[in-house]
Amino acid sequence: MFSEKMLDLGNVRSVIRETFEYGLKRSAEIGAENVFDFSLGNPSVPAPNVVNESLIDIINNTDSTALHGYTSAPGDVSVRKKIAEYTNNLYNTNVTQNNIYLTVGAAAALSITVKAIAEENDEIIVLAPFFPEYRVFIEAAGAKCVVVKCRESDFQIDIPALKAAINKNTKAIIINSPCNPSGVVFTKEILLNVANVLNDAQKEFEHPIFIIADEPYRELVYNNIEVPYIPNLYDNTVVCYSFSKSLSLPGERIGYILINDKCVNNNLFFNAVCGAGRALGYVCAPSIFQKIIPNCLGKTANIEIYEKNRNILYSALTNFGFEVIKPDGAFYLFVKSPDSDANKFCEAAKKFELLLVPSDSFGIEGFVRISYCVSTKQIENSLPAFEKLANLYFKEK
Ligand code: PLP
Repeated sequence: MFSEKMLDLGNVRSVIRETFEYGLKRSAEIGAENVFDFSLGNPSVPAPNVVNESLIDIINNTDSTALHGYTSAPGDVSVRKKIAEYTNNLYNTNVTQNNIYLTVGAAAALSITVKAIAEENDEIIVLAPFFPEYRVFIEAAGAKCVVVKCRESDFQIDIPALKAAINKNTKAIIINSPCNPSGVVFTKEILLNVANVLNDAQKEFEHPIFIIADEPYRELVYNNIEVPYIPNLYDNTVVCYSFSKSLSLPGERIGYILINDKCVNNNLFFNAVCGAGRALGYVCAPSIFQKIIPNCLGKTANIEIYEKNRNILYSALTNFGFEVIKPDGAFYLFVKSPDSDANKFCEAAKKFELLLVPSDSFGIEGFVRISYCVSTKQIENSLPAFEKLANLYFKEK
């Protein structure tokens, strides 16, 4: 009666959501201040003032039918032009409005992009640990999701493993930097190695292999670390960008697809993106939020708060004995589970009201993710619980 595939997707509950709901239940039982929920990547820092100021201005000064009406399917042309100008100034590129398609966040950008390129037997590579929805978008488009693990020493891309995974069916690789869940920013050197591997493979197999650069955390980096702009390192790149995290607007659903101007047949690629948007019903991203974008380009929420949270949590957890990947960006801490079964470790953490996410759903075992986009107070209050948890594993007997 229903699509088996969709029924399966709907029936399988996301561990992250389940943990979040458990947190709500516990909060009702023992008080929110006693539950340390680190499950969701929902920004805790408010949107910068320019967001609400722009909203008020647009509401007061735009004709109501234009305000709430449809824009063109790929988004308002003047907004796409502004994004193109901003990008060209920042990265010295030559994109136009015809390289940009506004979307309902990065999730829609990714599913449209994958749908636009995937043909029967195509394979799309993802780098573990990875955002779990990649598999959903890839498989829903009829392609195969091929997992390549990152190096466990530093969670940078494992170049020999990547090389070994590429074959004549490889159509694309998704690269997410800064990465959810590891917090790692891929270095320019590593990305140039990836570009070399892909350029060789394109020659060998005589077809383009795309990089899909998933960049919702582009601006969320610490100590001014460089996030290399992948379209300037590899021509056949398409960027999936979102304002969800940079402007703290995850519920408003606004982002875009940007096809590199140097990408092969980029005008046809844009047409395929328009077709995929149409097929998926992702036309005309939320109109009011499209219109505030020109005022908000280059602005961010106060990311110093995340940096402070990262520093407190990283130093406390390492002091307690945990092995932690030091994140350069995003707002996640990836911690080695002291129990080889990360699910068991998360259950043990729950006894101290610490809600963590096991790494299995990110494509690797033996780690947990801690989302530190919570209040600094929650981080500080949670430290005694983390210490008690550490004592279960590391205290000399
Ligand atoms: N990609 C990654 C790596 C993410 O972490 C997320 C959201 O958490 C998304 C994409 C989806 O972002 P959006 O809320 O813009 O759809």
